Amino acid sequence: MNWNSANAASRLDHAGFLAERGQNLLLSGARVIDPASGIDAALDLFVEKGKILKVGKFKKSDLPKHKTIDLRGKIVAPGFVDLHVHLREPGREDKETIWTGTNAAAAGGFTAVACMPNTDPPLDNAGVVKWVLEQVQGGPVAVYPVAAVTVDRAGKNLSDIGDLHLEAGVRMISDDGSPVADAEVMRIALEYCRIHDIVLSTHSEEKALAGKGVMREGEWSTRLGLPGWPSVAESAMVARDLLLAEFTGGRLHIGHISSRESIDLVRWAKARGVRVTAEATPHHIALTDEACASFSGNTKMNPPLGTKEDRKAVIQGLKEGVIDVIATDHAPHTLEEEMVEFSHAPNGVVGLETAVGVVAKELVAKKILDWPDVVRKMAVAPREILRLPAATVSEGEQAELTIIDPEATWVVDPEKFLSKGRNTPFGGWKLPAKPIGIVNEGWLVLAPDARMLVS
Ligand SMILES: [Zn+2]
Ligand SMILES: [Zn+2]
Repeated sequence: MNWNSANAASRLDHAGFLAERGQNLLLSGARVIDPASGIDAALDLFVEKGKILKVGKFKKSDLPKHKTIDLRGKIVAPGFVDLHVHLREPGREDKETIWTGTNAAAAGGFTAVACMPNTDPPLDNAGVVKWVLEQVQGGPVAVYPVAAVTVDRAGKNLSDIGDLHLEAGVRMISDDGSPVADAEVMRIALEYCRIHDIVLSTHSEEKALAGKGVMREGEWSTRLGLPGWPSVAESAMVARDLLLAEFTGGRLHIGHISSRESIDLVRWAKARGVRVTAEATPHHIALTDEACASFSGNTKMNPPLGTKEDRKAVIQGLKEGVIDVIATDHAPHTLEEEMVEFSHAPNGVVGLETAVGVVAKELVAKKILDWPDVVRKMAVAPREILRLPAATVSEGEQAELTIIDPEATWVVDPEKFLSKGRNTPFGGWKLPAKPIGIVNEGWLVLAPDARMLVS
C-alpha cells in the first residue's frame, strides 16, 4: 500500500479521520504561532490548492468555493517534523510499514518524519533511499530517509555519503540502533558532513560499558535485580563525538539524549562553538528508571530511562535551549515480541501519536515551555537541522501546518493507534492537549472529534 493507490486514505478513513486532497480551506480564528515570521495571534488563513493565499483579516464573500474549519481556541503552527522515527520497512513489515507509520505520523500531527536506517536491507545506498521516497509520493507526510553512516551499519566501511546526499537527497546520516564505535570512521564521516553540510545523528553508546545492561544502572536496577546500563556508557561517547565534531567542523546531532552528564557536555560544547544540536524524547522527559519496576517491556529502551536527576537535567536542558529538539524515537514492535520477560523484551516504544499530548502534560501544563517554545522544538529546529526551508505561515507559501487543540483532554488508548505498534508506556494516561489535524501537500487530515468543526 502507498499513498498513490486509489484508497490511499483508507487507514485514516477506517479510524474515523477526514482525509482528503485538493479542497480549498478557510481556517478560521486559530491562534497562529509562527516563530519565523513573529506571528502569535488569532488569524484567518485561506488555503487554495495547497498554498496559503491570505493571512489575517480579509473578505470571505468573494473567496472561491471552500470548506470552512472553525478553529477558534485551537493552535495552527508550521508542520511538526519528527527527526527520529523507525518505520521498519523494508524488512520488518510485521512491526510497521512506511504506509502505517506515515498514517500514524499524520494522526500525531506530524507533516514530516526522518526515518532511521536500521532496516533490512539498511538504508546505506541511494537505491534503497529512493525506493523509500517512492513509497510516500502523493501522501500528506514527507519522509526524509536517514542514511547509514557505514555499509550494513556494520561500523567498518563508510557508506557512499556523497552519492547518498547528491543522488538521493539525504540530509542526515546515522547508524542508529548502533553507535559508530570506531573513532576514525566517525572522524571521516564528520568530515563528509562538513563538506556536504549534512548532519550526523548519534546513537551514543559505548558498548563495552553498556554491556548486558537492560535498564539504567543505579538504585532501581539494584532493587529490581536487573543488569545496569550506566549513564557513562552514553556520556563517554557523547564526549568523544563532541571533540571529533569540534576537530572536524562537521555537524553533530546527539540523538535521544538521556543523561545529566551528556547534557552538561553539550552545554560545554555549545559554549565553545561546536556545531552540535541535541534531541530528547517524550519518554525521557516524562519517565524515570522507577517505571521499570512494572517489569513492562514498554519501559525498556536504549538509552534506558534515566534517574530522577537525569530527567531533571533533560527538562532543564529543554528549558535552557541546550536541547534543541523533541523527537520521538518511535520504535514499533509486535505484541509477541513484547510478551516476554523484561530482559528479553526489545528496546523502544512507539511515540508518534502521543508526543504532542505528553509534551503538553509534562512541559506546557507545568509551565516549563510555552506553545511557541514547543513549535520551535518540534517544527522550527528540526527543519533548520535538516537544512529545509522554514515552513512559515505567510502568504504565497505552501501550506504545511499542524493543528492542535490545547484544551482537549483525552485518554491514550493504544488500540486506537494507526501505528501497528501498541508498545507505549503511556496507555491509559490522561493528556491535556491533542493534535487534531495537519494540512500538507494539498491534503487535509482531521481527527474524528474535529470533523464537527468543518462546514
Ligand atoms: Zn538509538
Ligand atoms: Zn532510534
